[in-house]
Amino acid sequence: MKKSYFLADEAAQLALGAQLANVLHQGVVFLEGDLGAGKTTLVRGIIQALGHQGAVKSPTYTLVEPYLLAERQVYHFDLYRLADPEELEYIGIRDYLQQEALCLIEWPQKGQGFLPQPDVLLTLHVQSSGRLLEIQALTESGRSVLTHLMD
Ligand code: ADP
Ligand code: MG
Repeated sequence: MKKSYFLADEAAQLALGAQLANVLHQGVVFLEGDLGAGKTTLVRGIIQALGHQGAVKSPTYTLVEPYLLAERQVYHFDLYRLADPEELEYIGIRDYLQQEALCLIEWPQKGQGFLPQPDVLLTLHVQSSGRLLEIQALTESGRSVLTHLMD
């Protein structure tokens, strides 16, 4: 199951993130796309819609940033600088994944072999001055998320 959206500017990207926040309660979400494709912007839209007031920056050096929000626990990963996927064991990836948390993972390709199959795969492409977002559901719970997301 798949849906796609054209997001004309950053405001549209944040708004779609807020839509996602309404329907994504827990599970694993992969965000794919080149540097500058808008992955972190989408994550910011999700996390701020859940009540986080401050900045949302890519945790490029720390690999993961926790957001313990009123309604949910969100862990934002950026694996861009992960040298070896085995490092995920040292940061305790399994503990994050076992909780009833929402894990948003940028650059999941870098963690190959140490990450589960995602519930939802978000792929971003630059298109003219905006972004094309493709949302794919890969599990039953991912399909339920996509069904509830407005077209
Ligand atoms: P990534 O995390 O994929 O490297 P960022 O989220 O940091 O990318 O975004 C890179 C730039 O793209 C930012 O300047 C952001 O404002 C811009 N941007 C994000 N979404 C859109 C959009 N839908 N249209 C135009 N620019 C966007
Ligand atoms: Mg980023």
